[in-house]
Amino acid sequence: MTTELVLLGTAGAPMPVADRAGISSAFIIADRVFVIDCGRGSPSAFANAGLGFPRLEAVFLTHLHADHTGDLAGMLLYPWGVRVGDNGPLPPVRVYGPPRPEAMPEGDATFHRETTIHPELPAPGTTDLVENILAGYAYHLNVMPLDARMPDAGALVRAIDVPVPARTESVTQSPVAVFEDGVVRVTAVAVTHGRAVPALGYRFDTADGSVVFSGDTTVNDDLIALAQGADILVHHVADLGYLERHGMTGAALQRMAALHTDVTEVGDVAERARVRELILSHYLPAQPDAITDAEWAERAAQGFSGTTTAGRDGLRRSLPRGAS
Ligand SMILES: [Zn+2]
Repeated sequence: MTTELVLLGTAGAPMPVADRAGISSAFIIADRVFVIDCGRGSPSAFANAGLGFPRLEAVFLTHLHADHTGDLAGMLLYPWGVRVGDNGPLPPVRVYGPPRPEAMPEGDATFHRETTIHPELPAPGTTDLVENILAGYAYHLNVMPLDARMPDAGALVRAIDVPVPARTESVTQSPVAVFEDGVVRVTAVAVTHGRAVPALGYRFDTADGSVVFSGDTTVNDDLIALAQGADILVHHVADLGYLERHGMTGAALQRMAALHTDVTEVGDVAERARVRELILSHYLPAQPDAITDAEWAERAAQGFSGTTTAGRDGLRRSLPRGAS
């Protein structure tokens, strides 16, 4: 049995950059594939990694910003035709993610929206998102089967909102059980990513080891608790100093700091979580030529006694430790 992590894309923020795909990772257990976030290029990266689309079992969204969800529609719709086995359609791809927020996030004098889009449901959750993808692509789903043999569209996807309780500042959260069978257990906690509420970090536990995905977050004690003793922590990282040197100042820089973990902080996060390996992903800045892998890794490793690796698109890690 192979248990493996693959980084499908490692860019942070919605703006496309050359030579680095949007944030997305895959966790593989034997013939089952779980995808964490579906950023830009995720379906192509899935194919490049040699993962067969019939193996896709579930998608886990950390939060509902477009850089994490933009290619979810493609991840469901492009491979629809192969979602079929000997006995009819394969089980639906399950899409787990944040529910609707309890209250619509409000802005302030500096950062606020002008037009509210779709005011009747201005902050849809994961099940709403999937329902709207199906509604928006109803033409394809209803008309394509008239010209090609397609599995029943009704069996394509099933969305599940992860029932995270609202975070209360300085109150410790217990992880929420997202999914469990005899082989894999997935748990989640709410992390802190500005007004993106709720935002989630996920932990995957198997007999071969455990991998934690931070999602986008500031330094967060609940995430550190979730990641305790994990084999691998895939953590997003920002270089706020770089952003400042390249023109981001004042309130915009402060807000970035309230959204992200800086490269100077992430080593301490990994040390406190006592993980074996820290793998960097979701880079800000995202351009591969902005900061070298070696520089990212060297700076992130400060204060961490384990192994630090600068993640890149296509990076693979097998579990358990020492497996090829
Ligand atoms: Zn992001």
